[in-house]
Amino acid sequence: MKVEKDKVVTIRYTLKVDGEVVDQGELPYLHGHHQLIPGLEEALEGHEAGEKLSVTVPPEKAYGEPNPEGVQVVPKSAFPEGSKVEVGEQFYAQDASGQPMPFTITKVEGEDVTIDFNHPLAGKTLEFEVEILEVRDATPEELAHGHAHGPGGHHHH
Ligand SMILES: [Zn+2]
Repeated sequence: MKVEKDKVVTIRYTLKVDGEVVDQGELPYLHGHHQLIPGLEEALEGHEAGEKLSVTVPPEKAYGEPNPEGVQVVPKSAFPEGSKVEVGEQFYAQDASGQPMPFTITKVEGEDVTIDFNHPLAGKTLEFEVEILEVRDATPEELAHGHAHGPGGHHHH
C-alpha cells in the first residue's frame, strides 16, 4: 500500500539540523492533512512500508523564514516572580484571543530580555532520516477528525 492522501502512515524518524540530532521518535499521522511539514509529506508520497528515505527540507517547505517582528525586548520585571529568566528558556504568552504563544529567551542584558516568538526551527534546513513502518487506510473517525488515532497518535480525553 502506497503513502497517499487519507492513509495513516507510521514513521520512525531522526531530525538533524546543522549535523546535530534535535528530535527523533515514532509518529503515526494522517497523510494529506497538514500534520507534517509540507516538504516531508511531499517526500513520503508514493512510498511504501519498509522503505527508508533521506529527506532534506529547505526552510520554505518547513517552518519558514524567521520574522524580524517576532523578536522583542521586554523588561525582566514582565516575568512572574521566581521565573528562570535565562537564554534558551521557553515561556508562553497569550495573544488577544487567549491562544498560547510560545517564545524563547535569546538574550539577557541587565534588565533587558530579548524574546523570540519565531519557531526555533524557522530559517533552518531540516535533514530527516525516515523509515516507513506502516501504511493503512484511515478509519472514518480519523478522516472526520483530520488526524491519526491509536497507539502513539492523537488521544481523546
Ligand atoms: Zn480524534
